[in-house]
Amino acid sequence: MATAIPSPPKVGMVSLGCPKALVDSERILTQLRSDGYDLSPDYAGADVVLVNTCGFLDSAKEESLEAIGEAMAENGRVIVTGCMGNEADTIRARFPEVLAVTGAHQYEDVVTAVHAAAPAARGAFVDLVPEAGLKLTPRHYSYLKISEGCNHRCSFCIIPSLRGDLVSRRPDAILREAEKLVAAGTRELLVISQDTSAYGVDIRHQSRPWNGPVGQGREVRAHMTDLAEALGELGVWTRLHYVYPYPHVDKVIPLMADGKITPYLDIPFQHAAPNVLKRMKRPANEAKVLQRVKSWRDICPDLTIRSTFVVGFPGETEEDFQYLLDWLEEAQLDRVGGFRFEPVEGAAANDLDGAVPEEVKEERYQRLMEKTAGISAAKLQAKVGRTLPVIIDDIGEPDEDGDIGATARSQADAPEIDGNVFLRDAGETLAVGDIVDALIEDADAHDLYGVPVS
Ligand code: SF4
Repeated sequence: MATAIPSPPKVGMVSLGCPKALVDSERILTQLRSDGYDLSPDYAGADVVLVNTCGFLDSAKEESLEAIGEAMAENGRVIVTGCMGNEADTIRARFPEVLAVTGAHQYEDVVTAVHAAAPAARGAFVDLVPEAGLKLTPRHYSYLKISEGCNHRCSFCIIPSLRGDLVSRRPDAILREAEKLVAAGTRELLVISQDTSAYGVDIRHQSRPWNGPVGQGREVRAHMTDLAEALGELGVWTRLHYVYPYPHVDKVIPLMADGKITPYLDIPFQHAAPNVLKRMKRPANEAKVLQRVKSWRDICPDLTIRSTFVVGFPGETEEDFQYLLDWLEEAQLDRVGGFRFEPVEGAAANDLDGAVPEEVKEERYQRLMEKTAGISAAKLQAKVGRTLPVIIDDIGEPDEDGDIGATARSQADAPEIDGNVFLRDAGETLAVGDIVDALIEDADAHDLYGVPVS
């Protein structure tokens, strides 16, 4: 007689916040899937809804509270996790009926809460899990989290109080996860953490044997440069995010020049004026950074540098802001995101004097965006006529003439935060995740336009 398989309970997930929170959501879902749960794409079909919150900025907290409210109204059986879970009192005061509130990275607590809210049937038929776990990102790119927490104390940031000091993962565990992801179809690895350059400091850069098919038992040190080199052997694009310009960053540039890892550095500079950086208490705040950027480009001319900047930080004078604009003119960063300073509850910067009026922040923000859009447009224009490798993110439907377009990215574009390469005449043979050469035909301030070449 056939074994009756009880239908598994269904879990809904709302994931807010940064890529790091997305990785947490993937881990939680992977665990739940292996415990016999199904996923529900909507509120109505879910036995319980998980809301993975972001609590970094006050605006993000409000968004998290709204998401919890929506899940309560639509379903009513809600478990809250993520950064805002550390403020259980605020959540419970507004939504006393939530089933459980757990903080960031408390995977076991979340999973236990789900088990209590909707017990799962176990058995051989429900215990299967995809080799690389369940992913919320498209299959062809994956975030790879290498550490959690941060040893710095930037005055505007509450991440260390939410997530604690730096805790690095073992290099062998990271590399095994990367190998699995690549075996499951990942063509691009996005290395993330709060401070990628500091990777391994807490575990004294200990070496571990890398036992995968590529590593073959070789020792790999828990250090950003060694890890980058090892990841580079997996034959996929490897992109480094949240890198601070410590001296050893110089050593990854030759790996980029040799095509071993993607020539792309995401360095959150946040400002350039020494006065402001000092008040921000930023790490790796050194005057010679412009010289280093220049020497990196001498070694690897195709290096793309992305960064973010905050305008209107307390005490920022017009002179400081002008310093930033002049610095950007020199640095010629490829991709820049801007923020207007916003006080975050619990951040040391809130006690600083010299608050910048909102209209001044807005005006500086507009000037920053104008400046960086001009630099970006010129840099992209210089790529017209070149043939560049691109990764396909999406293939469109045929238009009235039967032409198919595709949305792709070059090595200069991280998914979701940078630009795109829009391809015409993509043909029917291309698939999402393919890496092909494209002739760049046109450019605007943020995106490129081209055609695949065989
Ligand atoms: S480096 Fe600064 S901004 Fe980044 S997580 Fe650490 S304390 Fe926060």
